Amino acid sequence: MKVFSVKELANNYIAGLKNNGTTIGLIPTMGALHQGHLSLIQQAKEENDLVVVSIFVNPTQFNNSDDLDKYPRTLEEDLAKLESVHCDLVFTPEANDMYSENEKAEIFNFDGLDQVMEGAFRDNHFNGVGTIVKKLFETLLPDNAYFGEKDFQQLQIIRKLTTITKQPVKIIGCPIHRDPDGLAMSSRNMRLTKEHRKAAPFIHQTLLAAKEMAKNTTPKQLENWVVDKFNNHPNLVLEYFSIAKEEDLKSISTFNNHSKYRGFIAVFAGDIRLIDNIALY
Ligand code: AMP
Repeated sequence: MKVFSVKELANNYIAGLKNNGTTIGLIPTMGALHQGHLSLIQQAKEENDLVVVSIFVNPTQFNNSDDLDKYPRTLEEDLAKLESVHCDLVFTPEANDMYSENEKAEIFNFDGLDQVMEGAFRDNHFNGVGTIVKKLFETLLPDNAYFGEKDFQQLQIIRKLTTITKQPVKIIGCPIHRDPDGLAMSSRNMRLTKEHRKAAPFIHQTLLAAKEMAKNTTPKQLENWVVDKFNNHPNLVLEYFSIAKEEDLKSISTFNNHSKYRGFIAVFAGDIRLIDNIALY
């Protein structure tokens, strides 16, 4: 497994391979790798000649400096995990290689995809994500890039990004990987207290129940039902539960069988913010 930390060196190496017809699959990550990340790598290995994982905690997508500082950084363990799944190349740049001094996030027009849910609660977050993903694509030249449905809004925004930037990358969405008790795997889970970790599967359980109920309720009634469930929970605090169309992430007043809908949730377990979602129709 090759490890590059310098942008130019990684770019030169990959450009050389691409000239020989090698196909590149990229999985962008912020590290603290878990089985969810490894499932994306597995899929990429089946579909590409060379699998590249980037590990970079991207400062421009954090609107809260405390969250950025506390984001887990476990590079040695990450590299060992990547070796064990036979990843081919890891890119671990320093911030000053990806950004010039005082550089801010580029502003994109994501057609409103970034104005709802995570975008409404995390100011400028998706411009930061778009900025770094565009740079990673320029550097690592992937044919295919893999993103988890765990961050479904991000997945749709990256799809939009490639239509804006016209970068020739196929965006592939991968299913949510969960712990056996249903909690969506996340790098943030390792920061949960014992008590909050025990409570957290309630999030997925509530989404599963909401999926069942979706057949017989309006979206508004279902949203209210979820709000009530969390109002009655002793130590999980709901930030939002929103039902939206998969395609444009717009909220809806009725379900119909012609479109796909998802329920999206963000919950605080103490000061750890957890997100999840579920296909409802
Ligand atoms: P992150 O390191 O959190 O930025 O995640 C890197 C990529 O892994 C993103 O595309 C995430 O959506 C994806 N990912 C994170 N957790 C999961 C999970 N539990 N299941 C599937 N994909 C995931």
